[in-house]
Order: sequence, then C-alpha cells, then structure tokens
Amino acid sequence: MDSQIVIIFGGSGDLTKRKLVPALYKLYERGVLKEGFAILGVGRSNFSDLQFREGLISGGDYGDKRFFDNLFYLSMDSANPDEYSLLKDRLNEFKSGNYLFYLATPPSMYEIIPQNLKIAGLNREKANVDGVKSGSRRVIVEKPFGYDLESAVRMNSVLKSVFYEEQIFRIDHYLGKETVQNILALRFANSIFEPIWNRHYIDRVEITAVENMGIENRGGYYDGVGALRDMVQNHLIQLLALVAMEPPVLYAKQEFRDEVAKVYKSLKPLSNDDIPNRIVRGQYIAGEKRGEMAKGYRNERGVDEASHTETFLAMRVNISNWRWDGVPFYIRTGKQMPTKVTEIIIHFKQTPHRLFSCRDDCPEQNQLIIRIQPNEGMVLKFDVKVPGSGFNVQQVPMDFSYDKLAQLTDGDAYSKLLEECLNGDNTLFTRSDAVEASWRYFDPILKFWKENPNTPLYGYPAGSWGPLESEKIIEVEGKWTNPCKNLTNTNLYCEL
Ligand code: NDP
Repeated sequence: MDSQIVIIFGGSGDLTKRKLVPALYKLYERGVLKEGFAILGVGRSNFSDLQFREGLISGGDYGDKRFFDNLFYLSMDSANPDEYSLLKDRLNEFKSGNYLFYLATPPSMYEIIPQNLKIAGLNREKANVDGVKSGSRRVIVEKPFGYDLESAVRMNSVLKSVFYEEQIFRIDHYLGKETVQNILALRFANSIFEPIWNRHYIDRVEITAVENMGIENRGGYYDGVGALRDMVQNHLIQLLALVAMEPPVLYAKQEFRDEVAKVYKSLKPLSNDDIPNRIVRGQYIAGEKRGEMAKGYRNERGVDEASHTETFLAMRVNISNWRWDGVPFYIRTGKQMPTKVTEIIIHFKQTPHRLFSCRDDCPEQNQLIIRIQPNEGMVLKFDVKVPGSGFNVQQVPMDFSYDKLAQLTDGDAYSKLLEECLNGDNTLFTRSDAVEASWRYFDPILKFWKENPNTPLYGYPAGSWGPLESEKIIEVEGKWTNPCKNLTNTNLYCEL
C-alpha cells in the first residue's frame, strides 16, 4: 500500500477527536501508515496546524507524539465550491497523491461535498505514469446513510455520479468489531452449526443492543432521528444479516456483500396491520438508576418537550426464504436501560419429547449466546442431570471468552475498517443496493408512524428494561432475555 492522505471533512468535530484520530494512531503504531502519510482535518473553525494537533492530543492516550507531525488543518467552508482551490493547494504540498476523503460532517453535507470534489476535479484517479504522482480516490461516508428511502436513494445517486461504487465506503462500525466478524467464523469455519442453522432446528433469534445512558449532549441530533434510524436500520439489521445469510462462495467483497443484500431483500414487508402488532416503541421517563434519579427524555437538553421520538424499539422481523420461513427474529434496542450490552441469542427448538423435569424453572431450549459487547464471547447452554437421586435436569453454560485470545477495545472497530479502506477492500462496508433494500423495509414503518401519530409510544422509567408492552410481541415463543453484564452469569438477579 502506498502512502495516503486522509482528508477528514469535519476535522474539528467530536467523531474525529474521539474515534478517528485514535484509530489512525493505532494504524501508525502498527506501521500500517506508510512514510509520507498525512491527515488533513477540514472545517470552518479557525485552527492552525499546531492548535489542531494540541486539541487532539488532549483527547487520547498517545505514547508517540511524532504521529502528530503528520496532522494538518485547513479552514474552509466545504459547502462553497470556490474554496476547493484552497484544498487543492494544500494537497499539492504533500508527497502522496492518494486521497481518502472521510465525510464526518452533519449528513446534510454528504451530498454537497462529493459534488464539490467533482467540480474541483478531486474525484479523478490518476495512474502513475512517467513519475507523475499516482492518485487513488476513495470516500468514506459516516452514518446515518439517509433519513428514509428517498434520501438514501438520492445520496447513492449523487455519490455514484462522482465516484464508482468500488471507491465508496459506507461505514457501519459494527462490522469492524471482532465479535461481529466472528459470527462469520462461527458459522462458516465450523461444520457443526450449519446443519442445524435453519427453521427445522432454530425456534427464534433474539438480538438485543441496549445502552445504560441517555442521549447525553446529543439531544438536538437524536430528537430528529430516534432508535429506528439510529440503531435498527443499520447496526441491528446488519447483525441479523450475518446470522441469517447464506454461506458466500468466497470471503470477498462481491460474494460476501451479495449474500448480505439477499437477506435484506428477503425481509418480509410489514403491512399497516402488522406494524402496530409487531413493533413496540417507547420513550424513557424519569426513573431511578443505581440509586440516582435520571431525568426523562423530554427534559433532556435539545429535546422538544412534546417529542414523539422513540428511544426504545422492540420488533419482530420475518425472513421469507427457505432457510428461515416462520422463524421470528426479535430485535430490541433502547437508551437508559439497566446495562450496556449487545448480544444475539439463538434459541434452538425444544426436544420433540420431554423425558425429564427441569429444575428451577430454567429455559429448556438450548441456546447459543453470541456476546458482541462487553465481556465479548460465546456461551452454549445445554441441560445436564442434576447430581443425586431422581432425574432432574438443569441448564449449564459452556463458555468462551474472547479475552483468552486478545483484549478488545472499542476503538479497534474504526482502525480495522480504516485499514481495510486504505487497502481498497470494501467487503466490510455497505453496498448501495443493501442500503436501499434495508430502507425499503423500514421506510413504511416511518411513514406509518407519521401518518398515525396516535400509534402508542409507551413511557418506561429510566433504568428499566423498557415498556412492559414489548413482552407482548414475543409472548408466543417466550420472553425477552435481559442479559447480565457478565456473560456467564445466569442468575436472575445478576450484576447489571
Ligand atoms: P460534530 O457536530 O461534533 O462535528 C461536525 C463537524 O462538521 C465539525 O467539525 C464541523 O466543523 C463540520 N462542519 C459542519 N458544517 C460544515 C461545513 N459547512 N463545512 C465544513 N465543515 C462543516 O459532529 P460529530 O463529529 O459527532 O459527527 C459527525 C458525523 O459523524 C455526523 O454525521 C454523525 O452522525 C456521524 N457519527 C458520529 C459519531 C460520534 O460518535 N460522534 C458516531 C457515528 C457517526 P466546523 O463547525 O468547524 O465547520
């Protein structure tokens, strides 16, 4: 890989400081960033290179400060095409002609910046002929990718009028997580799971991704977005796709992304009658969390005091294909819940005939739990005989914890994805047809809520597991599993 210049639009923002620069530093430490690399932050705020560097150093734990000699800043308004000559001049100062544009601005700029890059001719790749600087061009687009189907289609069309699909990297940092990628290894590197990974043996799948925080200082952003757009349409449906996809012929960008897109295209559309029965929305109200009172959502800064934005969502998704017909996928996300956890539970079917009674009212079905975060790992739950007289069975966990292999940190996802992008590999990035297929499924839900403002939005106290009404959508098959912080803790009253 030749050295590259990473141009971050939104260089003065929160994402750059908290995630992107620490991730790039990790790549620098590992020697992935080649001699001659540079990182150019772009924003309207006025900073010198030195001020930019100093502002970032305070945001992380950086052992080798020489990294910051490669960081630069350009103050410009990226909405104004006339100012791109400033960008060109600045880029000409660098040795490398390979540019990776990172769009980390408010989403309203995701269409404007690419068009301005095109006007400035900065989208054009250059071959390395006769010693002239070669020039690859790539663009990373941060989430959210679209506000609804229409805006996602429009954004794709603008991006594709500037770059080829191969040059576009729509990032979903969930796909950079080791434990998410491990779903693929679990399914396709082992022969024991595939024969039972279907509607004949699997009863239901539960996917929970909850947080124990509110919206922090992001009220202004979150209130116009809500849980469906923020978590479900991208991250959770991506997890569902990895659980549900067919084995790709190759682990390569085309083949892998074909299978992901196929899952999205197989999601069974929800009719207007289905929506109120299959989806429960909630919004947190004031409640006690770990002995302290947390305020309600409508009292958060930047939130409309009559807001109808959902901070909790639980839904039942069905997939219409041979493998999954009739198997419900239950998805749940929420803010201000008792703990922060993301996990997938595969519930296998009950044995056809029960010989033994189960002690302590334990769940009788085998479960495979894939813990994405924290306490990354896996647990397989199965029944064993309770020692002693009689013949009772009890469920026990067999676990694997990822920290036996390596210590994983949150920042690893961004550095992994940045590395893939620098290598030009977009396997782990979302393709345009997949984004649109996902929106095609979720868009009718947003429309339904808009056209039916009286659709219930249940209040739930901060620190609880969400509205009790969410139990209704799962009650035919069972109950929601409220995970403990510790993966192998199966006690009812576990640490949260
Ligand atoms: P911030 O509000 O902190 O930063 C926004 C950045 O965009 C600032 O650097 C701002 O710089 C710049 N900007 C805004 N308008 C313009 C303009 N017209 N021309 C040039 N620069 C502009 O947002 P975040 O960093 O939190 O988020 C950035 C994007 O990343 C958002 O789309 C967000 O949804 C997404 N994201 C953020 C995450 C996070 O953890 N923060 C996580 C996942 C996605 P200036 O004002 O100096 O122009």
